[in-house]
Amino acid sequence: MSKYFYIITDGDFYANDIREMAMQFFPEYTIKKIGLSTESDITLSVNREGKKAKSKIEFMGKKVEKEIVIVKDAQRRQIKTLLYDTLSEFTEKSLKWGTMTGIRPARIAHGKLIEGKNKKQVIDEIRREYKVEEGRISDLIDIACLEIKKLYPLDIKKMQLYINIPFCPTRCSYCSFITRDSNADSDVLSNYLDKLLEEISIVGTGLKESGACIESVYIGGGTPGILDAGSIERLLGTIRKHMPVDSVLEYTFEAGRPDTITEDKLAAIKDSGVDRISVNPQSLTDATLSNIGRCHSVEEFYKAYELVKKFGFKTINCDMIIGLEGETEADMVRTAEKLLGLGPENITVHSLSVKKSSYLKGSIHKESFFDESETEKAADEIYRMFKSRQYVPYYIYRQKYTANNGENIGFSKAGHEGFYNMAIMSDKRSVIGLGAGSTGKVYYPDVDRFDRMETVKNIELYIRDVKKIAAEKLKQIKSLANDIDMF
Ligand code: SF4
Repeated sequence: MSKYFYIITDGDFYANDIREMAMQFFPEYTIKKIGLSTESDITLSVNREGKKAKSKIEFMGKKVEKEIVIVKDAQRRQIKTLLYDTLSEFTEKSLKWGTMTGIRPARIAHGKLIEGKNKKQVIDEIRREYKVEEGRISDLIDIACLEIKKLYPLDIKKMQLYINIPFCPTRCSYCSFITRDSNADSDVLSNYLDKLLEEISIVGTGLKESGACIESVYIGGGTPGILDAGSIERLLGTIRKHMPVDSVLEYTFEAGRPDTITEDKLAAIKDSGVDRISVNPQSLTDATLSNIGRCHSVEEFYKAYELVKKFGFKTINCDMIIGLEGETEADMVRTAEKLLGLGPENITVHSLSVKKSSYLKGSIHKESFFDESETEKAADEIYRMFKSRQYVPYYIYRQKYTANNGENIGFSKAGHEGFYNMAIMSDKRSVIGLGAGSTGKVYYPDVDRFDRMETVKNIELYIRDVKKIAAEKLKQIKSLANDIDMF
């Protein structure tokens, strides 16, 4: 039976912030704003009265009330703190991310360090202003320091290139991306690739004329590994021919599913200058892989990993997920141990996020899905293990609806930090996204602002309109260039 949590506010008074905070403290409840609450529902009211904001939460005779005086400049943060204090006292719980709800938490530490504050000042401020727990603050500081070291001085001409291959061999139960079946839709894939190459050549020619310089390339998806060796050669050859990639620092091919990896594909990838490759097991427990709809076994992952290793890429990345259905803390820790045994240069740990468009969302009950204590203990232990083996956190982002209000965090051996990941999460670089469903942004360093660059998700529309889509992107890039007379 659903448990309801009613939010009562004046109009839309910080409705999203209130809702997000409530969801973090009460993940097993359905949050509602409209309707009549009953005695078995929790009610939270947040209102403004003159210069004061007041909050009150009630359930079965238990009540917590608080109020604060609003200071105009800090209003949003103050409301979040008021809510946090109210909900924390009521539940006797604290959140590891405190009041920080943004998807890029390292940005706050980054901004404070750039203002000239020292590490101690930044730690104290984040603790005081956002109530983030100690371990997470130190990760944020480490990541922000790395970003500052790698990304400065800022340069408007330095850009990242993302190419999207939105096709997969099967659909994972937790997936919320718009991807197509690479087997059933092989004709669409072939048309898509032709149009993608067209977009690369149009946008690449414009970028070259502008004097832009691509620092990192990321071929992602979907599962780029579904492309055959000939298609990989065509794709990477077109990038080499048309894009300004002469001084690229990092070139990633997200092979993705181990079952798509073959020797001839790897040869094509390596010959084209790729130096970072992702092979993603997600879990190293066979029953889990079968549960989540991956069509490969643990053994197949090991074989693919060994094959990739033979080709001598500078950096191998492996992704794993915390919070997969049915996994215990021991399962998750065992996956991490096995990955450490292989010793890839990068390991990315994702917290499972159950989004609306995933198969999983329709098949689970909120009350039973995430075992918070298992995922929390697993995350703490896995991070500890990685750090003790000299892997450092180098990028972090958060998503909504995650297991244990968790984060996604990339660990790296020194000198192998994924530049593309750091650049996109810092919001300090332009990212040129090409292909259906890709996202990008143009960044203006002078004013520290960016405009989004979106591409239609529907593959048929992309195929039909590719010339127009490429022209629009060039217009956006030129507006950036006009800013500094780049063209
Ligand atoms: S491999 Fe990635 S993109 Fe493809 S279905 Fe699985 S989660 Fe989605």
